[in-house]
Amino acid sequence: MGAHNYSTAWTAGTDQHWHACQTAGCTDKSDTADHTFVQKKDGTNHWQECSVCGYKKDVTAHAWGSWELTADPTLKTTGEAERTCSCGEKQTKTDVPALTDTTVWTMDSGSRKDPTIKDKGSEDYTSEYGTVTLPIPELTDPIWTKVSRTDPTLDGTGSEKYTNTDYGDVTITIPALTDPIWIKDDSKHVEPTEEDTGKDVYISEYGEVEVILPAKEHTHVWGNWTITTEPTITATGTAKRVCTKNAEHTDTKTLPALTDTSVWTKADDKHVDPTKDNDGKDVYTSEYGEVIVVLPALGHTHEWGGWTITTAPTLTETGTAQRVCTLNNTHIDTKTPPALRRFFNFFSRFFCYTLKKQCFAKNILLFCKKNEIL
Ligand SMILES: [Zn+2]
Ligand SMILES: [Zn+2]
Ligand SMILES: [Zn+2]
Ligand SMILES: [Zn+2]
Ligand SMILES: [Zn+2]
Repeated sequence: MGAHNYSTAWTAGTDQHWHACQTAGCTDKSDTADHTFVQKKDGTNHWQECSVCGYKKDVTAHAWGSWELTADPTLKTTGEAERTCSCGEKQTKTDVPALTDTTVWTMDSGSRKDPTIKDKGSEDYTSEYGTVTLPIPELTDPIWTKVSRTDPTLDGTGSEKYTNTDYGDVTITIPALTDPIWIKDDSKHVEPTEEDTGKDVYISEYGEVEVILPAKEHTHVWGNWTITTEPTITATGTAKRVCTKNAEHTDTKTLPALTDTSVWTKADDKHVDPTKDNDGKDVYTSEYGEVIVVLPALGHTHEWGGWTITTAPTLTETGTAQRVCTLNNTHIDTKTPPALRRFFNFFSRFFCYTLKKQCFAKNILLFCKKNEIL
């Protein structure tokens, strides 16, 4: 029996490896030892391999875990994802489609949080690569177009509607002007007058809102009363006054008769007694002005001069005659003498009557009738 001739290559069994004797008929083994398995992998499989002899067992395709996004895609850009096998092998996908690819991504409408003018919003997209929470820019971002605005008032809220092709429509509520976020800008306040409206200006992160302040109620400033119809002892009168701010505003009042002492005071210092020849007066004063009541002159027994015919009467017209008082030549007594035809009629009638039985008198009668004497 010669020396064994061991192979330099390993022979492997299920559990062990060794160097086999190459001599025919000899089954002797050298360096027999248990495999020392280590984990090995390539792009497709992983397995156990003996680090000494290279024996492999349990060759298995990788069992990939879930994808995990290492770079989120956006609406416009692709992302990256990787997945890992329990053996440690990683697989990377560098072209995860953008979120607009609806064959891959589904937007979860329940997850939508609208942005505000201060805060970003968000919405979730899901796919086999995982979930992406897409931030939505604040409404102050220039990507947004403001479609409409209703200013808030002191009583109610306002609103604003924004739109963007990627993020859709967003409507926000603007708090009423009574909300503490609004600050009244005193430098822009305009006080209303009787002629013009004023305004208050409120400022907040929602911009500027003007509130019109109604014009102030007009307060008349009356001028002095003027008596337009003087009252008398027995009758009422009227007075009028005009607003000094607007001449179209007038105030009219019925004045009581001068006997009403609640309004009228007889001014004793202005009283003048009437004399035989001259009128006197009583003066009544009030807030509306003064009224003078003439007290007629007491008068005298006229001492008339002779009659003078100032216009002679004619056959058909009356005349005038007058006489003057010798005590006061402004006292004149006037009479109107009747037309002369009256006398003529009388005498003609008399003559016609006495003569009418005589036949020639008929001619006179006819004459008289023709001339309307009878
Ligand atoms: Zn041998
Ligand atoms: Zn081995
Ligand atoms: Zn593996
Ligand atoms: Zn007025
Ligand atoms: Zn007289």
